[in-house]
Amino acid sequence: MRGAVFLGNRKIEIRNFPDPAPGPGEVVIQMKASGMCGSDLKFYRPPPGEAQKALGLGGNADPFIAGHEPCGVIAARGPGVSEREAPIGQRVMDHHYSGCGVCGHCRVGWSQLCRAGITVYGVTAHGGHAEYFKVPARTLVPLPDELSFSEGAAVACGTGTAFGALRRMQIAGGHTLAVFGQGPVGLSATVLGAKMGARVIAIETNPERLALAKQFGADALVDASKDDAVQAIKELTRGEGVDLALECSSASAARQAAVRAVKTWGTACYVGEGGDVKLDVSPDLLRRQVTLIGSWTFSAMGMADCARFIADAGIKLDRIFTHRWKLDQADEAYRVFDAQSSGKGVIEF
Ligand SMILES: [Zn+2]
Ligand SMILES: [Zn+2]
Repeated sequence: MRGAVFLGNRKIEIRNFPDPAPGPGEVVIQMKASGMCGSDLKFYRPPPGEAQKALGLGGNADPFIAGHEPCGVIAARGPGVSEREAPIGQRVMDHHYSGCGVCGHCRVGWSQLCRAGITVYGVTAHGGHAEYFKVPARTLVPLPDELSFSEGAAVACGTGTAFGALRRMQIAGGHTLAVFGQGPVGLSATVLGAKMGARVIAIETNPERLALAKQFGADALVDASKDDAVQAIKELTRGEGVDLALECSSASAARQAAVRAVKTWGTACYVGEGGDVKLDVSPDLLRRQVTLIGSWTFSAMGMADCARFIADAGIKLDRIFTHRWKLDQADEAYRVFDAQSSGKGVIEF
């Protein structure tokens, strides 16, 4: 099979690999769609292994097949995997982490929190940018019939991350929600938040992405390259601030603004990886009873809930993709994505 390998320093190569054979407890997925996630750029840009080390995922610098938003159909089952668990031909997404499988975190579907050491497919082991993809059967999440393979790929990281954060913030109808950054995760938060009944204020510096946010149901837009985001949000909320602010850009200034934009008793949440933030603890947090949450992706069950919500709410998530690529275009696909001015890309098979 062919797979797109990240070599570090913005280099990608299509290489040939032997077709994977499933071992005990494993399945092979024939890939149909493999999404491109903003966090892929954290591994695409630096020298090999550096980002993994910085994010606490070990320092393995061996070249690996990228892609951690995998979606396809089950092609083969290894020993010990039952027909019921993984019927051949079933449409599936993959919860792209594997832990020890037996600890409390793993058993409730939060394998990325496993303390025994985790595998992150597409980051520390071969991922979905290949014709076939081998994973433990327990990482499979069925794809609802209503969703396309590319929509399933989006749910498998970016959109699922937005959903997980909104649930963690206990979003409710009538809330005001500020979403900082309208990349793939932020745009997902905008459309999901609006469908959950919130009034969404979208903050972004790129005009193309702001226009997409409007199409995805944002009630108000703030161009942070021109206006002070906190002040603009206050003006849109009668001086109070928003109930909820979700920060998806990883930019320090946006993280600070997200905390400052929430009202007294409000909640801010960070999902962007890496970097830092400077807060003035008393005025920013204590004196206003602010809740600040960190949210890392979602559980396997949370992923199933996200897919079900999108199907039931009738969200046309495929509109999030501005670029569709074939595997042999991976190099060009990441060069376009690296500019961070467009929407989301997906590799289709
Ligand atoms: Zn575990
Ligand atoms: Zn991701």
